[in-house]
Amino acid sequence: MTIQQSLATTAGLTDLLGDRIALPGDAAYESARLPWNRAIDQRPFAVARPESAEDVVDIVRAAASVGLRVAPQSTGHGAGALADSDLSDAILLSLSGLRGATVDPAARTARVLGGSQWNDVVAQAAPHGLTAMHGSAGDVGVVGYSLSGGLSFFARTHGLAVNSVRAVQIVTADGRLVRASAAENSELFWAVRGGSGAFGIVVSIEIDLLPYADLFAGMLLWDATRAVEVAHAWSAWTRTAPESVSTSLRIMHFPPLPELPPFLSGRSVVVIDGVVLEGDDAAAGIIAPLRALSPEMDTFARIPAAELVHMHMDPPEPTPAMSTGAMLGSFAGSAVDAWLAAAMSTTGLSFAEVRHVGGAAARRPDGAGAVGSLAGDYLLAGIAMVPFPDVAPAARAAVHALVAAMVDWHAPSLALTFIDGDVSREQGFGDAATRLRELKAVYDPTGMFTAGHPVD
Ligand SMILES: Cc1cc2nc3c(=O)[nH]c(=O)nc-3n(C[C@H](O)[C@H](O)[C@H](O)COP(=O)(O)OP(=O)(O)OC[C@H]3O[C@@H](n4cnc5c(N)ncnc54)[C@H](O)[C@@H]3O)c2cc1C
Repeated sequence: MTIQQSLATTAGLTDLLGDRIALPGDAAYESARLPWNRAIDQRPFAVARPESAEDVVDIVRAAASVGLRVAPQSTGHGAGALADSDLSDAILLSLSGLRGATVDPAARTARVLGGSQWNDVVAQAAPHGLTAMHGSAGDVGVVGYSLSGGLSFFARTHGLAVNSVRAVQIVTADGRLVRASAAENSELFWAVRGGSGAFGIVVSIEIDLLPYADLFAGMLLWDATRAVEVAHAWSAWTRTAPESVSTSLRIMHFPPLPELPPFLSGRSVVVIDGVVLEGDDAAAGIIAPLRALSPEMDTFARIPAAELVHMHMDPPEPTPAMSTGAMLGSFAGSAVDAWLAAAMSTTGLSFAEVRHVGGAAARRPDGAGAVGSLAGDYLLAGIAMVPFPDVAPAARAAVHALVAAMVDWHAPSLALTFIDGDVSREQGFGDAATRLRELKAVYDPTGMFTAGHPVD
């Protein structure tokens, strides 16, 4: 864009949207452009923070009329997936002002505004003895997580969160606000369940809730000197664990920081955590082989379902990090050894995780959308903190090195919510990729929407 074009676009946008738009140089721009993942330096043409569905319609129409694209974002937890997108001709449409959830306890559903976090849903569902298929962190956005799959600690029992979506209200590229469900705009409904922000701006979403007021969950922790023994034991244990159990194995390297609890600060630890959807006696019996490894910390107990968002110890504040992942077909024997070697010795790697998937997460239910299941029994994920911008390339290299170390066990699939940036989405969309591209050409023929997981 030339300077003259940029000035004309700015003038056009200001005429149409007034102070609903923030431009470079405005104080509001500098704060609103920041994603949760502070390692990503987003510099869009402008930022808009709509307060209503009508605002979203106005912003999309204004963008179209001045020739800008639109990038939806709720929290910026997934900003790493946008890192390689040039936003200089896009409005970053931050939905963080559109939050709130209404629960229908009889129908066991929630209607959730487009920028809401899982904490918003859990808080409304809990008084009714209900919870939701949230992931490990309560401040992740409901829409970004759910529409790209959404892997929860309920996944082996209840499947991917995307299958709990009943309807969306979405602003399409032609600036219309439409409802998409199995009965209305059903092709768009199919596409958005996987295609997510590539198909429009979701201003609200309707989801099924789960009937758990409390559940058996927790974590076991050992010093990383026990990693070999613990990792092999978990691997063997998962091979017979029932579908009522969803757990994760991690090696976590923490720097010495005063804000960390003493049991983590400056240490490397191995952690198993998860949920056992059984009565207390049955659950205790299932995890007994892990407890027999004498962890130094054991928090497994019956807890209120609303407390589950704290179990995985995800950072409570915006955090700069690089992450990526892969699906694994198996995790046994030499695969465990390769993972241990990479997890313990890759320079700059903060956390190496393997989640036990399979079960209901691997089964595509009738009526599912573009993404409805995950092939592969384990998810591999690597996270590297980026305390200073200069270490970003090394951090990115570290997480990719972990994934590369496990290439012999990769499954031909991808969990979209666990990949950032420069990774092909083809395997994440699977058989749906071709149809998604056809529908993108129908619903967004000019490529108006720039999504974390592009359909192109
Ligand atoms: C600490 C942490 C813990 C996590 N835990 C899990 C986990 O347990 N399981 C899991 O599956 N994933 C997990 N994730 C990954 C997370 O699900 C993805 O990063 C997801 O994209 C976050 O959604 P968001 O809306 O918060 O992010 P955003 O960055 O705001 O959005 C990501 C993408 O979603 C789309 N989008 C978001 N909102 C809208 C909207 N209203 N309309 C249209 N499109 C929209 C856009 O395409 C956007 O680029 C975790 C991530 C972090 C950082």
